[in-house]
Amino acid sequence: MTAQIIDGKAFAANVREKVAGHVARLKEEHGITPGLAVVLVGEDPASQVYVRSKGKQTVEVGMKSVEHKLDAETSESDLLALIDQLNNDDEIHGILVQLPLPKHLDEDLVINSINPAKDVDGFHISNVGLLSTGQKSMVPCTPLGCLMMLRDHHGNLSGLDAVVIGRSNIVGKPMAQLLLGDSCTVTIAHSRTKDIEDVVRRADIVVAAVGRPEMVPGDWIKPGATVIDVGINRIERDGKNKLVGDVDYASVSGVAGAITPVPGGVGPMTIACLLANTVTACARANGLAEPE
Ligand code: NDP
Repeated sequence: MTAQIIDGKAFAANVREKVAGHVARLKEEHGITPGLAVVLVGEDPASQVYVRSKGKQTVEVGMKSVEHKLDAETSESDLLALIDQLNNDDEIHGILVQLPLPKHLDEDLVINSINPAKDVDGFHISNVGLLSTGQKSMVPCTPLGCLMMLRDHHGNLSGLDAVVIGRSNIVGKPMAQLLLGDSCTVTIAHSRTKDIEDVVRRADIVVAAVGRPEMVPGDWIKPGATVIDVGINRIERDGKNKLVGDVDYASVSGVAGAITPVPGGVGPMTIACLLANTVTACARANGLAEPE
């Protein structure tokens, strides 16, 4: 069997097109331009690439993009003051603080200082609570992108066995909540899980969010299962730098029914969902109908 490739790049282009349509309507009918502020502290090279890409795509869909690049030594009080200013800025509907933050800054404190209505990453404790109780919230972008691709591929996820490998607050846990919300039977596996291969082999849906290059081999996968590979790992192979996921694409694509590639799978969907969340935040802030 050769797995169907779930084309995240094409899917994301479609999401961005819809977002651009909503942005145009907000401008024409209400004179409102959705605005996204991204805050980057320090010079982490991967974060710089993400922030550049987010800014570019924000502008491409017609939204206002504001970038705040702060020195790695920025104090917590200065960062909190900036967030307070953005919280009170009516032209800013979404605020994203790029993680990870330098060690001297308290990540939880910083994230929880963002106005939950502008927390387009969905990491604020209020949004985490709303999601886990099935209430309207801001949903973290990476898991939201995964869910959209799964819904598109399967139609209805009800009753399917899903295994999420990884239990981070930004991917694993919200992913599990979303799958549970769609009535999957959800198992979360992590570094202490016993006989992980047997756990994964039961799954109709596998979401790998581990951060270990090509950790999941084909013989862990139930034939025909759908595999969503969240991992982005930079490795060196044959003297070249390469991006690989958390699943071993070569062997897994021979067993799975469908698979997301790396690059070109989950990655592009994450930014597309960030843009979608910003439009949603803007619509809510102005008491307008939310985009679907
Ligand atoms: P974290 O490091 O925060 O979490 C990794 C999780 O994997 C932990 O829960 C850890 O378990 C688990 N884990 C580690 N080793 C093993 C193992 N041997 N077996 C089973 N589980 C294990 O990572 P993130 O969730 O932030 O990110 C995961 C991956 O997704 C990374 O490659 C990251 O780059 C990528 N990513 C991609 C995004 C995208 O847009 N495509 C966005 C965000 C992340 P434990 O809790 O027990 O330590």
